[in-house]
Amino acid sequence: MPRYSINETRINQTMQELGELGDSPEGMLRVAYSPEDITGRDYAIKMMQEAGLETRIDTAGNIIGRRSGSDDSLPAIAMGSHTDTVPKGGKYDGALGVMAAIEVIRTLEEQGHNTRHPLEVINFTNEEGTRFHRWLVGSRSMSGLLEQEDLDAVDDDGLSLGPCLADIGGDISRIEEAVRKPGELAAYFELHIEQGPYLDRSGTPIGVVTGITGRAVFEVEIEGKANHAGTTPMSTRRDALVSASKLVLAIQKMAAEQEICRVSTVGSIKAVPNAVNVIPGSASIGLEFRDTNMEALAAAEQELQRITDQAVIDDAVDIDVIRHRFTTSVPITPDMQAMVAEAAENCGFEWESLPSGAGHDAQAVANIAPVAMIFVPSLDGISHSKEEYSTPQDCANGAQVLLELLLLADDRF
Ligand SMILES: [Zn+2]
Repeated sequence: MPRYSINETRINQTMQELGELGDSPEGMLRVAYSPEDITGRDYAIKMMQEAGLETRIDTAGNIIGRRSGSDDSLPAIAMGSHTDTVPKGGKYDGALGVMAAIEVIRTLEEQGHNTRHPLEVINFTNEEGTRFHRWLVGSRSMSGLLEQEDLDAVDDDGLSLGPCLADIGGDISRIEEAVRKPGELAAYFELHIEQGPYLDRSGTPIGVVTGITGRAVFEVEIEGKANHAGTTPMSTRRDALVSASKLVLAIQKMAAEQEICRVSTVGSIKAVPNAVNVIPGSASIGLEFRDTNMEALAAAEQELQRITDQAVIDDAVDIDVIRHRFTTSVPITPDMQAMVAEAAENCGFEWESLPSGAGHDAQAVANIAPVAMIFVPSLDGISHSKEEYSTPQDCANGAQVLLELLLLADDRF
């Protein structure tokens, strides 16, 4: 049995109230730094204060609510996630982690339970990275992982980050003050919807996250020869789009059949001149591989090199493989995974281990503190869509495990 029961009605009421802010017929519109985002942020601040937390906004725009512990010389245990959404996003991604953390604090308040450690609820800003095309901006700022490119980024209208940060109470000229040193946080716990189909399919209420996937992004440019589609014999063509098409299928097989890495996706394709009566002279594809094991990503890169080398020979084209970005996977330590499993068992829930295919604030925070993540099912694995849904029971279960995890950590850290 869990030590205290969270209030299922109350957590779902707050999820519903937050879900009305920035809602539209197409889905949620709380894109970071927008007026809609600010309504969600203001709601989070109000709920934190009602829960008795002392709130502040750091220079990176993160909202931090703090509750004293019985020994304030101890580092804080933090819980949180984000309330920004992708355009036309859902009501649960990020929102659940913040609202559940607030519910945990409210439950402790009601029970008169004073933890040893100070506690923090953190609402990280701009997790999704829609604006400025830079993501995890708040959590990377806090974790000392901000890059010059983040500060220099401009949005699609040419606006820069500084004024946007000012709109939400941050200060770009002092953004480095948001950095927390290793040791300042005893741990960080993030409850999140799975955003994939595994828990929903197996009917398991709780997921113990084993790690956050690494990602390797490439662009492949293929040079053939543009020519007349009517007069050029098939045998003499150097058709860049045909080569690209073979690569698309080969890359799909790398994960689906060869199992070199967990998932592989060609997400973009361009043909030049893209005219129906011209043999495509050049083509390019954008692709990514994801796996929690970085060796699998290295193997995928090797295989990509092999199949493109082969295409050069087979199709008489020139190929350039451009390596764009490698995001390192973030493993969650076995100790932290075991504590999440123990918390789930104390609450009487079945659980299963699974990796996170999506990125999360926890992967940045892992740079300064031990992290753990709890997943709850996403109906049909749908996310980043207005169809995104987790049942009231799932949301409450997640909050219950978060509370139990916090109490275990407070006893042991
Ligand atoms: Zn999220």
